[in-house]
Amino acid sequence: MPGGARSSTVSAHPLIRSLGLAVSRIASLLADRACRLCGAVLQSTPGPLCGWCVARLYPNTDRYAPVVLENHSRVVVRSSFLHAGSARELVIGLKFQGRRELGRLAADLMTGAGTIPPDAAGCVIVPVPLCRTRLRQRGYNQAEEIGAALARAHGARMSRCLSKEDRPPQTGLSAAMRRSNVRGAFGAGREAVPGGVPILLVDDVVTTGSTLSEAAAFLEAEGGDVAGALTLTYRPEARGYIID
Ligand SMILES: [Zn+2]
Repeated sequence: MPGGARSSTVSAHPLIRSLGLAVSRIASLLADRACRLCGAVLQSTPGPLCGWCVARLYPNTDRYAPVVLENHSRVVVRSSFLHAGSARELVIGLKFQGRRELGRLAADLMTGAGTIPPDAAGCVIVPVPLCRTRLRQRGYNQAEEIGAALARAHGARMSRCLSKEDRPPQTGLSAAMRRSNVRGAFGAGREAVPGGVPILLVDDVVTTGSTLSEAAAFLEAEGGDVAGALTLTYRPEARGYIID
């Protein structure tokens, strides 16, 4: 094709090509040395975050009792960080700013925080689904982005065996309202509920645990063995309402 031949002649010009290569090398060098959350250039910090972002990560220590799922007393939710500072900014970027790549960063930080059980490779990771309307708006499910990255990092399988009916967002609701808002919301997903293998539920944030509790109830009713739940952050309540 004459047009194709002409354009290949132009792009093959050695000066333009070497300039293009130099620009892309500089870009990748900068990307490798940039904080994966705020984009600041990394100086000597070895991890994925700059010193400023690391300093504002608040590990979820014993200060708060772990959330235990209602009617599932043995299912403990392991949350790596409190919903504040850098971890909160990560959730906002992942959920509301289209920064899908932050799912992998969340998984890396959860792994680094030591909240992933050592037997994760033998478990099936089940991300908490989004309802269809929200999934259409966002284009991806943030819990699935985290779950897929965790599965890859720990050699586990991920299953999309849950679906969720359209319900109003949980944000800003009291504990009792959150429970009733999510009751009966979960159903069968694209895959069958895995049997004979422990299930780890994965979500970005846990507040009262009502969403995870309801998801666990559906999985168990379908014969699933829910062994635990993992979230990046824990957002504690105050006086029945949510601290934001
Ligand atoms: Zn940073």
